[in-house]
Amino acid sequence: MRFSGLRVLREGLTGNKGWTPHWRDPEPKAEYDAIIIGGGGHGLSTAYYLAKKHGLTNIAVLEKGYLGGGNVGRNTTIVRANYGMEGNSQFYSHSLKLWEGLEQDLNYNAMMSQRGVLMLCHSDGQRDAFARRGNMMAAQGDDAELLSAQSVRQMLPYLDFENTRFPIYGGLLHRRGGTARHDAVAWGYARGADQRGVDLIQQCEVTGIDIENGVVKGVQTTRGAIRAKKVGVVVAGRSSQVAAMAGMRLPIESHVLQAFVTEGLKPVIDHVISFGMGHFYISQSDKGGLVFGGDLDFYSSYAARGNMPMMEHVMEAGMTLMPMIGKAKVLRSWGGIMDMTPDGSPIIDKTETKGLFINCGWCYGGFKAVPGSGDAFAHLMATGEHHTAAAAYRLDRFRIGAGLMDEEATGSQHNLH
Ligand SMILES: Cc1cc2nc3c(=O)[nH]c(=O)nc-3n(C[C@H](O)[C@H](O)[C@H](O)COP(=O)(O)OP(=O)(O)OC[C@H]3O[C@@H](n4cnc5c(N)ncnc54)[C@H](O)[C@@H]3O)c2cc1C
Repeated sequence: MRFSGLRVLREGLTGNKGWTPHWRDPEPKAEYDAIIIGGGGHGLSTAYYLAKKHGLTNIAVLEKGYLGGGNVGRNTTIVRANYGMEGNSQFYSHSLKLWEGLEQDLNYNAMMSQRGVLMLCHSDGQRDAFARRGNMMAAQGDDAELLSAQSVRQMLPYLDFENTRFPIYGGLLHRRGGTARHDAVAWGYARGADQRGVDLIQQCEVTGIDIENGVVKGVQTTRGAIRAKKVGVVVAGRSSQVAAMAGMRLPIESHVLQAFVTEGLKPVIDHVISFGMGHFYISQSDKGGLVFGGDLDFYSSYAARGNMPMMEHVMEAGMTLMPMIGKAKVLRSWGGIMDMTPDGSPIIDKTETKGLFINCGWCYGGFKAVPGSGDAFAHLMATGEHHTAAAAYRLDRFRIGAGLMDEEATGSQHNLH
């Protein structure tokens, strides 16, 4: 079934009786060429690109809950490529280019909205750092504009510019950044993978990884054993637990990240605004809710819910930046489990077990990475070679200490990234 304007019109006129389910609900087979553990954004996009680009279609995605029930459906939907470090910069640039053609590629409305991401700066030093970052982005063909305080004031007159603790000195605007509807991205990839023959198996938790003589043989699940020649682990916040099934100890800590949404309001915030000094960022959803969040809850946890002190901290930061927000009523808050590496950058690599691959450590950056990560992981799983855009994401950088990508210059402390 293809989506088109004509199709919507026809269905509208004929009682919407012609729509079919987006994907099948197959029983697991006894054996696959490849298994992806985790039906989040990264797992689904990996399966899609394995099938589409590499012709591997005897694949299953095993998801312990339902597709899109993890962080891919819990994030604040920001998509951008304004990273400043060698390795990350190239990867996110690649991912953004895939985003730009994604809806046509998937024939699915992911509500991609390149409304611009503005990072505010609050000191001369921070403005210099943004200028360097902007130059790096521009040098590799991405867009970046350094704005004066006056320009930011014209764009966002509702911000508090005279705030004495963090006066606004200007900002770095990345116009091609923006938002996309998170669960539609999961559904679009799921539908695209299913159409190419991939089995999407929900309510199927992986409980063990079968390894013989250093070679992966398959997995144990709540729906029985399934054999496979290749297994990719893409389980975000649960990466340490699933890797432990293969005897691995990952350099990952799992922390909670919270987000909030207000009641629906008329259009007021038409960009994504990031207020790093206050640990706060915000955008407005197409439904009108102000969607915002802050930093991690700093303790390690597998509970996908947050706590009141961080809630208070985020609300205070919002009020500091834009006092008008105090009039809005918060409707909901929620949390997701983040897989943090010591340098805050991800891992896409082979493991010491032949046929076993790992993709994790996306922390809060993982939604914008979904297309690029799936593309790169599929490339690695299919060819055994690292994709050039993700070549820096080696696991052994934490063992040998070379090639670390400490994007935020906070050192090797998971919860500070
Ligand atoms: C509040 C919040 C805000 C965020 N905001 C942004 C943002 O604005 N921009 C951005 O780029 N990123 C953001 N992120 C980060 C981003 O959402 C994640 O990095 C990314 O979604 C993680 O990858 P995923 O989609 O594959 O994860 P998930 O959707 O969590 O997928 C992993 C899946 O693995 C499954 N699984 C786990 N264990 C097993 C098992 N044993 N067997 C089978 N299946 C298993 C889980 O059920 C889950 O569905 C945010 C995250 C949160 C929580």
